[in-house]
Amino acid sequence: MEDLIIISNLNDFIFCPVSIYFHKLYGSQDNLLYQSSAQINGTKAHETIDEKKYSTRKSAMMSLDVYSEKYGLCGKIDLYESDKKRLIERKKHVRQIYKGYIFQLYAQYYAMTEMGYEVKELYIRSMDDNKNYKIALPEKDPNMLQKFEHLIEEMRTFNLETFYQTNIEKCKNCIYEDACDRSLNRGE
Ligand code: SF4
Repeated sequence: MEDLIIISNLNDFIFCPVSIYFHKLYGSQDNLLYQSSAQINGTKAHETIDEKKYSTRKSAMMSLDVYSEKYGLCGKIDLYESDKKRLIERKKHVRQIYKGYIFQLYAQYYAMTEMGYEVKELYIRSMDDNKNYKIALPEKDPNMLQKFEHLIEEMRTFNLETFYQTNIEKCKNCIYEDACDRSLNRGE
């Protein structure tokens, strides 16, 4: 069986594939050393979910492990409201709906569906301002679905040895910049 792709890595890969390497390397270390304050806030937002404190309502399922055989993906969902058949990915503060957010939801959606759950709606929720952004189901957005499938394919065939970052702005905003020998922001 081919290696499984971790759902949370979809977003990292879009930002920079090298960041996944550092994420794995530093993942078990003290987060304060490696995470910017914005990311720590984001992590805090997810702790409520990860520790299953969000709600005692039976209709709210949190941090469920999910797996898609079709796409070779695994990970956790954030929140599933079974009464509304709604899958929600919560973020600390959403300024913009990035492709990576949508693809994470798609991955969770396909995994949930394969596992027998019915999902009728997808949402990204911005916790700071309590805004909800409805995301079309992938079947309703063939263009995004094609991009999602292309991303999976790209991740499967990716070769770290031959990759070079070309966007210096990403390096400037990257929490791994100091440790990364691929950074374009060296010496600044
Ligand atoms: S410093 Fe640049 S090349 Fe290195 S992981 Fe960050 S974005 Fe990627």
